[in-house]
Amino acid sequence: MDKANILIVGGGIGGLSAAIALLRAGHVVTVIERDPQWSVYGVGIIQQSNVVRAMDQLGVLDTFLDAACGFDAVEIYIPSGDRVARIPSPTLVPGKPANVGIGRRALQKVLGDSAKALGAEIRLGVTVATLNDDGDGVTVAFSDGGAGRYAIVVGADGAYSQIRDMILPEAGKPEFTGQGVWRYNFPRPEGLDALHVYNGPIGVGLVPMSAEQIYLFATSPEPGNPFYSTEELAAAMRSKLTNAAPQIQALAAQITDNDAVVYRPLEAIFVEGPWSRGRVVLLGDAIHATTPHLGQGAGMAIEDAIVLAEELGKADDPETAFAAYRERRYERCRFIVEKSLAICHGQIGKGPAIDNHKATADMFAMVSQPI
Ligand SMILES: Cc1cc2nc3c(=O)[nH]c(=O)nc-3n(C[C@H](O)[C@H](O)[C@H](O)COP(=O)(O)OP(=O)(O)OC[C@H]3O[C@@H](n4cnc5c(N)ncnc54)[C@H](O)[C@@H]3O)c2cc1C
Repeated sequence: MDKANILIVGGGIGGLSAAIALLRAGHVVTVIERDPQWSVYGVGIIQQSNVVRAMDQLGVLDTFLDAACGFDAVEIYIPSGDRVARIPSPTLVPGKPANVGIGRRALQKVLGDSAKALGAEIRLGVTVATLNDDGDGVTVAFSDGGAGRYAIVVGADGAYSQIRDMILPEAGKPEFTGQGVWRYNFPRPEGLDALHVYNGPIGVGLVPMSAEQIYLFATSPEPGNPFYSTEELAAAMRSKLTNAAPQIQALAAQITDNDAVVYRPLEAIFVEGPWSRGRVVLLGDAIHATTPHLGQGAGMAIEDAIVLAEELGKADDPETAFAAYRERRYERCRFIVEKSLAICHGQIGKGPAIDNHKATADMFAMVSQPI
């Protein structure tokens, strides 16, 4: 498709990656983001080798790496606190780190600044009121009273996607998995140069995200999906780590700031049917929100963005491009959602225990394939 006027709904990781890929392909891009503050919570995210490659494809690798903390290995620990393995992870971009940890705010800044520098119009505090696809284009009425006409609308509006509900009401909603995840930042301990993973009833990880900081994540069974008020978060997170390895207990004792604890019930959805209707297409968590057990949710959203822009460049019409995009993405995204969910269910006894090492190795083998 030639230069098109494209609306992206959602200024998160997937929407901003799509903005960059589509702008580089010569399209005109407007991003609308519902949150007027465009806020992002202050912990980090793991971005593995395929994401480093994807950032290279988006043309933002150097700024991305400047804001991140590279690492080339994963260390596995057992509940006693003993290290049982240090597994090197191969890089997909020669001369660059295999994987990185990065603060979510730092990642948003890299992607947001790049999208703006390439010419994206980003409008905050705005969402879609109505969409009318008449076959030749989509007329959009915005929540602020404005309107626009677009060749394509991309719904990158996350797991509870409004655009998914509008175009594919039959696709369903994310489901609670039975687990929650707790996160907290710490100063980076000397010598911590890898992702540290602690296996056990409460899965724990330490992720380097800058020269000065790491974040700790802990996945816990949360039967009944309880609500935790802010005032109880630090004590609740410490209590989840009571039986953790000694070095994790030492960190847990420092969890005192309720406002700095980020708790989230884990939910998942994979849309098995269509991912688009007419001139409106979905990407990222809107079609495949995964639990974080393989650290690949954002990676899949970023790859979606690149593939979508590529297929629009090859096809004469949006529907052909959207079908080719879904075809290229379907199995990879399904694998990530299903395998992550299997690990989650295995940890809480809702399914057979999954060999985490093998699942991780399988994941790396799969995502290292070209997108
Ligand atoms: C606990 C946890 C840990 C994770 N850890 C990792 C990890 O280590 N590595 C990894 O790769 N992935 C990880 N993920 C997954 C990752 O966060 C998501 O896959 C990723 O954020 C998806 O990006 P997205 O742009 O599709 O959606 P989102 O990040 O949810 O962004 C959607 C955006 O759209 C906006 N929006 C929503 N509705 C509307 C609307 N109606 N109109 C306009 N704007 C709207 C939202 O405000 C938001 O800015 C994790 C997820 C969880 C829950």
